[in-house]
Amino acid sequence: MRRKLVVGNWKMHGSHKANAELLAGITGARPFGCDVAVCVPFPYLSETAVTLASTDLRWGAQDCSAHEQGAYTGEVSVPMLAEFGCRYVIVGHSERRAYHGESDQLVADKAKAALARGVTPIVCVGETLAEREAGQTEAVVKRQLSAVIHTLAHCASEMVVAYEPVWAIGTGKVATPEQAQAVHAVLRAQLRAATPQADQMTLLYGGSVKPDNAATLFAQADIDGGLIGGAALKASDFVAICRAAE
Ligand code: PEP
Repeated sequence: MRRKLVVGNWKMHGSHKANAELLAGITGARPFGCDVAVCVPFPYLSETAVTLASTDLRWGAQDCSAHEQGAYTGEVSVPMLAEFGCRYVIVGHSERRAYHGESDQLVADKAKAALARGVTPIVCVGETLAEREAGQTEAVVKRQLSAVIHTLAHCASEMVVAYEPVWAIGTGKVATPEQAQAVHAVLRAQLRAATPQADQMTLLYGGSVKPDNAATLFAQADIDGGLIGGAALKASDFVAICRAAE
């Protein structure tokens, strides 16, 4: 049986004070019967690493450069993230794809750069509302995942995949457990065709996960935990979602 993973995506939220309170609330609720991580804004990696160093909680970033180093003003490389002890980096979040024009191949290149330095990429895929209504959900997520599978080749089994329907992110409109499971099954089947380790891989669901809907989502056969946005900013909600994954 796969161990569940719950990851908080803080997005561009936080302050020294708010982060300290949030992390205190999460660490104070240990132990968890699932793996738990927080992906924080770059400036807060240092303090997060210090705060969580003596715990079994993990941390990571929300994006990375596909390059190792060089003249890329404003970017942050995976070797830098690794120096801060990052276990994970989110790549291909729909907000990066939509607001920064990130292509499937760029997302795949970022995932490859992460794995090359031992940082696990959490690769986000998901369809917009228009794509769902046009019956393109399966084609879109398969296309997005396919680019990563081909680029990672024999390392593909080392990524975490997060299915995040764009229409469910931050909107309060959660996919039904059946809708989410149907897409997760498609992704698992695609991964099975690519790697013998597909059944050991972690597939997260993200999109308006809250304490009251987490348990039914996490009970689905191919949903191995969640990528949590808004509810990750309130310790009691995030902890409740982690409990639902135990
Ligand atoms: C996200 O941004 O990854 C996310 C899932 O956000 P929310 O939980 O707020 O929908």
